[in-house]
Amino acid sequence: MLLSNPLTQHFRLTDLQQSALAKLGVKTIYDLLHHFPSRYEVAGEGAEIAGLVAGQEASIVGTVEKLEAKKGWKSRIPMTEGFLRDNTGRIKCRWFNQPYISKMYAEGTLVRAAGKVSGAPGKLYLANPQLQKVSATEAGLFASQKAPAKGRDGEENQKKSMENTGQASRTPRTFPEAFSDSPELFAVYPESRGITSLWFRHAIKKFLTNEILDQVEDPIPQELLKNYNLPTLRTSLVWVHQPKDIKNAEAARKRFAFEEVFMIQLERGRERALQAHAKSFSIDMQEKETQKFIDAFPFEPTDAQLKAIDAILADMSGYILPSGARQGRPMSRLLEGDVGSGKTAVAATAAHAVVETRPAGQKNGTLQVAYMAPTEILAKQHFESFIGYFKNFPINIGLITGSGCYKFPSKVSRGNYTSISRAQLLKWVANGEIPVLIGTHALIQKAVAFKHLALVVIDEQHRFGTNQRRALARKEERLPHLLSMTATPIPRTLALTVYGDLDLTLLDQMPPGRKLIITEIVKPQERARAYARMHEQLAEGRQAYVICPRIDEPDPDKAFALQAKSVKAEAKRLKKDVFKEYSIDILHSKMTPKEKGDTMARFERHEIDILVATSVVEVGVNVPNATLIFIEGAERFGLSQLHQLRGRVVRSNHQAYCFVCPESRGEQTLARLKALTTAKNGFELAEQDLLQRGPGELSGRKQWGISDIGMEALKNLKLVEAARAEAQALIKKDETLAKHPLLSQALQARASQMHLE
Ligand code: ADP
Ligand code: MG
Repeated sequence: MLLSNPLTQHFRLTDLQQSALAKLGVKTIYDLLHHFPSRYEVAGEGAEIAGLVAGQEASIVGTVEKLEAKKGWKSRIPMTEGFLRDNTGRIKCRWFNQPYISKMYAEGTLVRAAGKVSGAPGKLYLANPQLQKVSATEAGLFASQKAPAKGRDGEENQKKSMENTGQASRTPRTFPEAFSDSPELFAVYPESRGITSLWFRHAIKKFLTNEILDQVEDPIPQELLKNYNLPTLRTSLVWVHQPKDIKNAEAARKRFAFEEVFMIQLERGRERALQAHAKSFSIDMQEKETQKFIDAFPFEPTDAQLKAIDAILADMSGYILPSGARQGRPMSRLLEGDVGSGKTAVAATAAHAVVETRPAGQKNGTLQVAYMAPTEILAKQHFESFIGYFKNFPINIGLITGSGCYKFPSKVSRGNYTSISRAQLLKWVANGEIPVLIGTHALIQKAVAFKHLALVVIDEQHRFGTNQRRALARKEERLPHLLSMTATPIPRTLALTVYGDLDLTLLDQMPPGRKLIITEIVKPQERARAYARMHEQLAEGRQAYVICPRIDEPDPDKAFALQAKSVKAEAKRLKKDVFKEYSIDILHSKMTPKEKGDTMARFERHEIDILVATSVVEVGVNVPNATLIFIEGAERFGLSQLHQLRGRVVRSNHQAYCFVCPESRGEQTLARLKALTTAKNGFELAEQDLLQRGPGELSGRKQWGISDIGMEALKNLKLVEAARAEAQALIKKDETLAKHPLLSQALQARASQMHLE
């Protein structure tokens, strides 16, 4: 039996199981052993139905009864309803959008149900609980001495729980002799359709044998394990799946978390080393020219902007060779600054220095700049901003998006831009006549070839590896400089990890004259007060955003999509009942890029007063006349995301307002949202999201390429710093990892795994 054996060699798997495993990326025994539990439970411990209270996160062992697929009474949403019974009573369970649940569990199946207790006292129910089949052994259920309480229902339970508060749910139970060798702690695995947590537990047990474990090789150097007191891979595999106690499990998880962050750091470290050897363009630092460009800004630059410009230009100017010639070294820099801190002006200045520089040894032509934005709306806005910044510095600027190509200036009307064919644009980019090309992802398609691409600016793209950079450079032997810009507030640990290959510049200063945005938490019943302010603003000629959590159909992945306000319905309601005299339109992700662009353009031209939208307006949209944002269902967003949404209205010198309105009246919700009014910046809010709600709340979590266990590590700054320092030290000594073949292999495996996803 080999670690690399496919599971199909050892199990007879149904099609459903096979596809479920494939989706989880589990093919071999090795993969299976690296499929980690999401949590652990103590056998027999759990809440009793009689003791449940609304709002509680409960895990209950019981049998399912009367599961039935239904349609919501008014909404017609497919759902499952049924009951869970233990010896203390029964409680209703409800799953939205999961009609198949009714078929997955036969009447009387013993399950563990984990979920939130919802509803009013007397009418409690479990909302979208996760079910797992359990064996009687694990449940410890039959050890309970209490007599079954037949026929009792939620209402009575509630009363009962009032009487014996505290006594019901946490009493440890004793096991009958026959079960005494069963593990105290058992692992719970993330389930997907067709494959249960129990299946994982049994399957994994089969392979936690000496035969298999003897084949395990630990990629992490011994001394590191010793220094940080981490268990070996072999031990960790046993402890993560079959821990004797929670300490074992935690030690194992810490090891895997360290390993993951260490691996990412090695990747980034190698990337950095690669870049350090690469050649790039040396950009002339003509201070006078740059000063002229900055002097032409329609505002005073902030000190932070000037410092950032300095750092970037110094970085791009390269170094002097013994021969006296200049040699460029590729810049890899991240410019991090809150929304509205003025990153575009910095990027434009960097671009200006590049297009003022001639290609080495040539009398004409200039170096080129590519500027990539995440959406068409933003690409267009950057295009227009650049036209503004370059007003007195005549150059051609191109715009390429999926829905069209443009060039500035137009031949017929010099102050304007004009639509041109893609072929024409590509030709001018290829021969260097267009030195600055702005666009969406369309920018990195194969067909786009530059003559001398020297700087790539990317806005909110998170990861842009050496390969993509090389692909853009194509024929050039030189790597273009990279300026990555972000306003996404992420915690320091995440930044240290995912941006390990970049130098960091902070724009930690807002342009002066900006009034602080007034943020208020609005309880659902106080909406009128916020609407009054909105009326006032609209009457003064300002515009507003209203943000809703969903478009119109409930989102199948989200519990309680039912209750959340939808863009379409809310737009209708506002038009009909609240803002009759104003023009209202909608914006959401299901619209085509063209529709979105048109709507945004109309909002910019003030043909729309109120834009009701989903969080698509989150990134970088810029309409200075919009001064108010009203966010519905606010508890559904992370604090850092709310902060970004709020950034939509800090664009001008008018007083801006942000109203944050949760659906629930819960004290905790209100307390959490309060941070929006007290935190100094987005990064502080991101830290709070990480600590309070876990890494799942961080915006854009998918694109970081970090597993759940790795994300757990992000709560631990010391661990992240240690992994980073060790990775850097190792790369310094052994850049190609020639002396660490196991690490090198592990990195390759990681890279191909990421590639698959
Ligand atoms: P970011 O991309 O960092 O969110 P932008 O570059 O889009 O910010 O700038 C936001 C707005 O602030 C723009 O309208 C820009 O013209 C303006 N702006 C930028 N820098 C300054 C400054 N130093 N003083 C005043 N306004 C500025
Ligand atoms: Mg921006």
